[in-house]
Amino acid sequence: MQTKKLIEEYFNKREGFAISIKALDSLIGNGDDFYSETKDDDRIFICECIDCLKPITPQLNKIKNNLNKYKIIGIKIYLGYQPIFANDKKLFEVYDFAKKQGLSVVFHCGVGAENLKSEKNINYASCVPVGEIAKLYPETNFIVSHFDYPHLDDCLNVILNNKNVFTDISGEYENFNNLDYSILMKDFITKLNNAMSKYDKSQIAQKVMFGTDYFGIGSGFEAVEEYIETAKILFGEQNLENILFNNVLKAYPALQKYLFLDNYVDKDYE
Ligand SMILES: [Zn+2]
Repeated sequence: MQTKKLIEEYFNKREGFAISIKALDSLIGNGDDFYSETKDDDRIFICECIDCLKPITPQLNKIKNNLNKYKIIGIKIYLGYQPIFANDKKLFEVYDFAKKQGLSVVFHCGVGAENLKSEKNINYASCVPVGEIAKLYPETNFIVSHFDYPHLDDCLNVILNNKNVFTDISGEYENFNNLDYSILMKDFITKLNNAMSKYDKSQIAQKVMFGTDYFGIGSGFEAVEEYIETAKILFGEQNLENILFNNVLKAYPALQKYLFLDNYVDKDYE
C-alpha cells in the first residue's frame, strides 16, 4: 500500500499528473506491488529502474512487456547507490533500449539520501559522464536528478551544453532534523543562485523540472508547496508553467504520446 498512500498524499496537495519513479528493490523498492498500485490511476506515469548489479537483459525484457500497459516513460539508474558510472559500457544496453523505445534515462546524481547506503568515496553519481553519453545518443533524453547537488556547476554545464539533458530540483529538502523548510530553502536557493550567476537564467529555466522526493519519513515529500515556491523564487512566476509541465513534456517524449492520446494537450504543442 506504500505507493498508493503516497499518491493520495501527493494529490491532496496538487492536481494534474505525476511521474512515479521506481526505487531499487535493494534500496526501498516496492517490488511488483508498485505496478498493481498504480495501474488504474490515469494521473500516474511510471519511470522504471535498472539494478546495475544484476543482469540487464532480463530487466529490459520485463520493462518492454510492461511499457504500454503501465505507461512507462523512462528508466532510472541509481548512480552512487550502486558503484557504477553513467558511461560504464554495461549501461549501453540500457541506452540502446531507451533509444529504440523512445524512453528517457534518468540518473540519480549528487549526494545520496542520508538514510540509505550509497558509495561515498568515489563520485560515481557525477553528471559529467552523463554529458558524454548524451553526445553519443543525441536522440535520447537524459535527466540529471537533484541538480547533482552539491555539484551545481557541473550540472549547469551539462544541461546547457547538451540539448538532450535536463535536470530537476527534487531531493533537495531532506529533513530528518525537522528544520523549518525556510532554512533549507534559503540554503539551496542561495547556492543555486550563486552557481547560476555565470549563465543565462532564462536558458536554464527551459531545462529544469519540478520534483519532490520520497524514500521514507523525512525525505521532504510533503514539501510540495515549498518546492514550487523554490522554483518560483529561482526562475520567476513566468517560468513556473515550464518547470511544472512544459519542460517535463520535452524531457519525457513518451509522456507526450499518452497525453496526446487522451487529448489533454493541444496536438500542436511543440
Ligand atoms: Zn535520486
